[in-house]
Amino acid sequence: MPHYKVAIVGAGPAGYFTAQALQSLQSDDLTFSIDLIERLPTMWGLVRSGVAPDHPKIKSVSKVFEKVAAEANFRLFGNVELGRDIHLADLTARYDAVVLCTGSSLGKKLGIPGEDLPGSLSAAEFVPWYNGHPDFTNIPVNLNGTTAVVIGAGNVAMDCARMLALNPSELDSTDTADHALKALHASSIRKVFIAGRRGVEHAAFTAPELRELPKLEHTDVRIDASEVSAAHERAVAEYGEVLEKHLASNLEAWRLIAEHPISGHDREMEFRFLSTPLEIKGNGKVEEVIFGINEIQGGKVVATGKTYSIPCSLVISAIGYESAEIPGVIFERGRIANDEGRVVESNIYTVGWAKRGPSGVIGTNKSDASDVVKLIVEDLKSPKVAGDITDLIPTDHLLIDQAGWSAINSSEVAKGEPLGKPRVKEVEWAKLLEIGSNT
Ligand SMILES: Cc1cc2nc3c(=O)[nH]c(=O)nc-3n(C[C@H](O)[C@H](O)[C@H](O)COP(=O)(O)OP(=O)(O)OC[C@H]3O[C@@H](n4cnc5c(N)ncnc54)[C@H](O)[C@@H]3O)c2cc1C
Repeated sequence: MPHYKVAIVGAGPAGYFTAQALQSLQSDDLTFSIDLIERLPTMWGLVRSGVAPDHPKIKSVSKVFEKVAAEANFRLFGNVELGRDIHLADLTARYDAVVLCTGSSLGKKLGIPGEDLPGSLSAAEFVPWYNGHPDFTNIPVNLNGTTAVVIGAGNVAMDCARMLALNPSELDSTDTADHALKALHASSIRKVFIAGRRGVEHAAFTAPELRELPKLEHTDVRIDASEVSAAHERAVAEYGEVLEKHLASNLEAWRLIAEHPISGHDREMEFRFLSTPLEIKGNGKVEEVIFGINEIQGGKVVATGKTYSIPCSLVISAIGYESAEIPGVIFERGRIANDEGRVVESNIYTVGWAKRGPSGVIGTNKSDASDVVKLIVEDLKSPKVAGDITDLIPTDHLLIDQAGWSAINSSEVAKGEPLGKPRVKEVEWAKLLEIGSNT
């Protein structure tokens, strides 16, 4: 009976769904040992460090991940970074297949002057800061001014804007990292602009996120009603009266936001469309963003040459992600070069955001994993016999195994319980390693 060894790198949704797909294919004729390797002492990838704290239901997918981890053929190697602690060639020599599920962790740059001024951050920094990613605990987030500008028109931009514009008391019962919650309570930001380059009809926000906005208890949301009706007219002119479901649903959600009465809360979110950021200005720190005004001509976004400015002290760009490079792997257009998940002519594969780029919800990675696992099984040859990751890690390396991660997980949940929170996140590397390696 052939038995194969598979190393999966990256313990986010793509990694766990790949393990699950392998487990589901096991039979009397085919078995796998699965080693999941993760650079952090904490697991679940962006389910832990990306998904917004005020959307706790989405994180319940972690139960599926822990079920996968409880299977006898699964081992976890946390605090092991591919490219730093171990190298790709060492894995490919020891495993029948190596699946890279390392995600996309770097924020795309705006490429405009002033982008590097203090007070200008990427969502790839701000989001892990409020979500307790140990690499981002101490980054400076300037919440001293009254106005923030979020650049981008997708759900990540929306998460960033909501986190800044909510009354922080609404986050008290969530797993927002303690340092961020404290900073948000002390924040003087009261107005958050969200700016998109194209029209309302082109925005990538999804309807459930839009439909939440009129329900916010302590925040008024502004969008110019004439902008929504103009977007509707343009969409009808382009696609006809019967609009595709996603677009129709989004435009209806925008109409409800525009018609929702303004309550006079001191916290506001305001959408600005057809606005291209041209420059972030300030004397040693962010003071304003200059936007170019666009219009739509023949379905295309065209600059009018007119500009306007939003004075602000914080800018967050949320215009997409790209993968951090790993030595020995070829990257193109911000993701691992691959053909449907196969990476060059070898036993290397990729799944998830590292493969596709930063698109798709958590569930998208499940079907992706299942497709790539089919290719892996198709390509399997005679099983490799000698060695595995345990040959590669020095004995004094602090390894976070499944028991170690369970210790971190239960300690966080236990700390959260008396406070009515799902967990209190541990955010310091040293403390995480101490809890996770003492099992
Ligand atoms: C801010 C934000 C909010 C989101 N909200 C939602 C939502 O509400 N609902 C939804 O369905 N989807 C949401 N998504 C999308 C969802 O999170 C992604 O589809 C999913 O996480 C991608 O999975 P992945 O495993 O490819 O990447 P990731 O989740 O990023 O996992 C990659 C893992 O690889 C590890 N890794 C990286 N490099 C190495 C290395 N060299 N060695 C070892 N390990 C490494 C990382 O530490 C990480 O744990 C959100 C995404 C973002 C950015």
